[in-house]
Amino acid sequence: MPDSTISNSPLPGLYIVATPIGNLGDISARAAATIAAADVIAAEDTRITAKLLSHLGLRVPMTPYHDHSDERTRTTLVTRMADEVVVLVSDAGTPLISDPGYKLVRDARAAGRHVTTLPGPCAAIAAITLSGLPSDRFLFAGFLPNKAKARADTIAEFAAVRATLIFYESGPRLAAALTALADGLGNRDAAVAREISKMFEECVTGTLIDLAARYGDAPPKGEIVVIVGPPGDVVPEQADDATLDGALRDAMADRPVAQAAKAVAKRFGLDRHDVYARALTLKEGA
Ligand code: SAM
Repeated sequence: MPDSTISNSPLPGLYIVATPIGNLGDISARAAATIAAADVIAAEDTRITAKLLSHLGLRVPMTPYHDHSDERTRTTLVTRMADEVVVLVSDAGTPLISDPGYKLVRDARAAGRHVTTLPGPCAAIAAITLSGLPSDRFLFAGFLPNKAKARADTIAEFAAVRATLIFYESGPRLAAALTALADGLGNRDAAVAREISKMFEECVTGTLIDLAARYGDAPPKGEIVVIVGPPGDVVPEQADDATLDGALRDAMADRPVAQAAKAVAKRFGLDRHDVYARALTLKEGA
């Protein structure tokens, strides 16, 4: 199969183009050449993509595209792909990865269009390479739900997965997410990768509980990926009675006693029945 973007005029079709997640220097030469040759760029946010175009010194027509764009927008783009070069970009990183594009690719394929991808930056992949956690097997979990119950339920689905887990997060939600992960998965080794490829890039490693404590008082700024090591690296936290009671009270604030006891028992490596009995005592005394 010839490389459809090496010749001067690319074949008509859909070109999925990854763009930088911070450092604009990370745009590939092939991505820049393909964008320059595009008849139209389907962009998540045309104002953000305009900055990339200005950096590249290019002027290319753009149209907004989201997966919730109406059917007509998608049909128009798919029709244009028959004899034009349509480039799909998101605000940053690889389109479709917690970003729009899946439905456009699905429909382009269904219509028999030429579909190709120009691989490049992706925060999830960049973060796992920074983390020092096992990278042979991983599960990309995207964003956790906002609400505590939905978040706990989602985390519970991942508890038995024997792989490193990757989550996208934001600064204000970080500490609560780390605590919920410790509750649901046990106190595993983890990493918080922040502002990758930007001036204040950092990757902080530690157990989930250590990281929750670190970020609890000072929610960090910027864009964040949380990496959680696989089960088996679990380090149960040591707890005296006061710490255990505090953790139980916190956990019971947003879920039923049995669920709270289960999470806290897991976190501290204690017997679930003993912790449940203590939770009932605390609840009755409250
Ligand atoms: N499609 C993008 C990709 O390939 O990485 C991800 C888009 S998603 C809407 C945006 C999330 O990715 C952010 O909230 C953050 O969790 C993560 N992210 C994006 N850029 C990042 C960066 N430079 N450093 C750390 N995380 C980043």
